[in-house]
Amino acid sequence: MHFDTLALRATHQSDPTTGAVVPPIFLSTTFARDEANELPANYIYTRPNNPTREALEKALAILEGGVTAMAFGSGQAAAMTLFQALRPGDHVLLSADAYYGTPALLEQVFHPWGLTYTRVDMSDLDAVQASLHENTRVVWCETPSNPMLSITDLLLVSQLAHEVGAICVCDNTWATPVLQRPLDFNCDVVMHSTTKYISGHSDVLGGALIFKRDNEFTQRVRLLQGLSGAVPSPFDCWLVSRGIKTLGIRVRAQSLTAQAVADFLDGHPAVEKVHYPGLSNHPDRELIQQQMNGPGAMLSVQVKGDAPKALQFIGRLKLFTRATSLGGVESLIEHRASVEGPTSVTPKNLLRLSIGLEHAEDLIADLAQALA
Ligand code: PLP
Repeated sequence: MHFDTLALRATHQSDPTTGAVVPPIFLSTTFARDEANELPANYIYTRPNNPTREALEKALAILEGGVTAMAFGSGQAAAMTLFQALRPGDHVLLSADAYYGTPALLEQVFHPWGLTYTRVDMSDLDAVQASLHENTRVVWCETPSNPMLSITDLLLVSQLAHEVGAICVCDNTWATPVLQRPLDFNCDVVMHSTTKYISGHSDVLGGALIFKRDNEFTQRVRLLQGLSGAVPSPFDCWLVSRGIKTLGIRVRAQSLTAQAVADFLDGHPAVEKVHYPGLSNHPDRELIQQQMNGPGAMLSVQVKGDAPKALQFIGRLKLFTRATSLGGVESLIEHRASVEGPTSVTPKNLLRLSIGLEHAEDLIADLAQALA
């Protein structure tokens, strides 16, 4: 079945009691028992489980080809819960280029609790192999990476992870299951910030973990999800489910526009470099074709000059909104080094663009006038 049909089927659960075509939102935090003290539908309390959250989790598992999924209150809450399932002394291997909040969690929260971690360039397979230890439990990939759009070979990296008994987790926030399904490339867990493309309208925070197997580790993460309660509200779950209905059409349209924008910027006299998986000069072109169904709608551009030049450029834009985050229907642009702070290794002349659903010609005209 095609992705768009799957997404509609996975989220279209009409209500059998009323016939309502759009599923209701179950706001109740608690669920009544019958005369025999039994729970009619196995729901007891909304922290461990709720029908609206369960509907979202089922849909996410279907889209990523997993056996089970768990929804969280943010992408960071999803990552946090997965790391909480590890033990002191365990080691995590993390992409050198990754959303800055992931290493921040490891450094500031989990390192003091006894987890160790190493950051490695995941496109250098020898370096990955050399950084794996017998206590490595998680290899955390992010591909395309944030903000350099580098690509990890998921099949080979997951194979290396499995050789030392580790699991391979892929943050699939940028590609979404429309363009890449990491579980098909032997990863064990997919992580999402559903705040981004999956919800798609910059109006809800959410996160998710989708599992290839329902094993002891999966059950430990589920236990933590229910015990710690870093879960989304039923209303937020409903909004994310609604976003899924248009995920395919949004991501494909946004990717087409991003390709046009990247082509315009590539070779522009005021531009030093464009990082975008759809450009023929991307170093991982072959791998992109094997692993992805399209280049996506995120790109980074390094303008000629330094940080003040980059900031001057974005200050002149009229259609792009200068804001953090990504994956919504409106185009955003951001000077990453400013947001990442003093520890940032992102080039100071780099701007990250999240391409929305505006017309490509209008976005290109805006970029052209700002670069002139
Ligand atoms: N992963 C990626 C790739 C992200 O871009 C982000 C947020 O920007 C996150 C994780 C964190 O997600 P959240 O902000 O929903 O906690």
